[in-house]
Amino acid sequence: MSTIGKIEQTWASICAHYKPGHIEIIGTIVTQLIGFIFPATIYLLIDSLCPHFSRKHKLQGAQRQPTKTQIRHCIKISLLNQLMSVVIHATTVQFLIGPEHSLLDMSPTLPSVSTLISDFIFGLIAREISFYYVHRTLHHPSIYAHIHKLHHRYTAPISFAAQYAHPVEHILANVLPVTLPLTLKGTHFLSLAGFTLFELWQAAADHSGYDFLKLPPASIHDLHHEKFRVNYSPLGIMDWIHGTDVVGWDRPPVKRDDKGAMKGE
Ligand SMILES: [Zn+2]
Ligand SMILES: [Zn+2]
Repeated sequence: MSTIGKIEQTWASICAHYKPGHIEIIGTIVTQLIGFIFPATIYLLIDSLCPHFSRKHKLQGAQRQPTKTQIRHCIKISLLNQLMSVVIHATTVQFLIGPEHSLLDMSPTLPSVSTLISDFIFGLIAREISFYYVHRTLHHPSIYAHIHKLHHRYTAPISFAAQYAHPVEHILANVLPVTLPLTLKGTHFLSLAGFTLFELWQAAADHSGYDFLKLPPASIHDLHHEKFRVNYSPLGIMDWIHGTDVVGWDRPPVKRDDKGAMKGE
C-alpha cells in the first residue's frame, strides 16, 4: 500500500473510533507539540550545544541575548499560554459545540491536493491581513503598556518568545488569526492542521534569532523586536502596503529650507 493509502486508512480508522470534537482537541495538542515545541527546543539546543555556530549565526550580539533565568521564564509563560488555549478549546468543544460535532470538515476521506493548496493560500492571506491589524492595534499607545509590552520584553528573541505574551494577546494575535479564517471556511481538519503546523514553525523560526534559515527570513521579525515600530506582519506584504516596512516610517519628515539644508543646521 502507498504512503497516501496508509495515511488515508489511518485517518479513516481514527474517524471511525473517536468523536469529531475529541479528534479536534487531541489533534490540536499534537500539532502544537510537533509544530512549535519540537522546533523551539531544537533552536534552543543549538544555543547551548553549538555555541560557535550560534555566535556566528545569531542576528543580534551575545551581550543582547537573554540570560538562562530569562529563558526559563520565557518557556514557562509560553507553555502556560498553550495550556490556556487548550483548556479554552476543550471547554468550547465539550460544553458549547458538543464532542459529536465540529465546525470543521471531519470526513474520513483526505482532502485533495488542490483543496490543501487553496486552503493554505487562503489561510496565509487571511492571517497576513488579520495579524497585521491586530498587531498594529496592540502597538497603540493606550493599549501597548497593558498587553503587548510583555511580548517585547525579549528584544533579542528566542523561539519560545513567539508565544511569550499576555493571555489576551495570545488568543487575539497568536491563535485566532491562524485558526479562525479556516474554521469559518469549514475546511477539512487535516487542512487546518497542516496550515497550523506551518504557521507554528514559522513563528518559532521568526523568533529564533538565527539567520541561517532564509525562508522564513527571521531577520524581518527580529528587527520588529529590536526597533518596535516596523515589520508588523508575518510575510511583510501588509507592511509594504502601509509603508511600515521602513525603520522610521512614523517619524515626522525633516524640514529643509530652499537651499536644501535641514532646519536648525
Ligand atoms: Zn514577536
Ligand atoms: Zn509588536
